[in-house]
Amino acid sequence: MSFKRYPSKVLQPLKEYLQAEEEELTKQLAELESGDPYNEPGRISDNEAGDDSYENNEHDKITALKKQIIKSLEEIKRTLQRIDDGSYGFCRRCGKMINTDRLAIRPTAELCIDCERQLEKK
Ligand SMILES: [Zn+2]
Repeated sequence: MSFKRYPSKVLQPLKEYLQAEEEELTKQLAELESGDPYNEPGRISDNEAGDDSYENNEHDKITALKKQIIKSLEEIKRTLQRIDDGSYGFCRRCGKMINTDRLAIRPTAELCIDCERQLEKK
């Protein structure tokens, strides 16, 4: 019971969903790169920090968004790997099965609710 693998009929659609998500996020990331005013070809490279608050704000916003997307992409990549090696759905910390309701909401969850709570307390 404790080492039951998820059947492929459950994992296959999940895998496809994650792969589509991965593609979408990669696209978003590329769009953000090109929308960053710091990367604009016409930008004067020697303007000092604080010269142009609009550019700086935009740049900070984009940097924060990019970080978020990169984090999600990493989660997706790890989840895809876990699907392939058969450890998907089991807590990375204690090895127990992760609640399926939890996985339905957050398919990239790597910890069971107990472990996540314990880690949050730290
Ligand atoms: Zn756990």
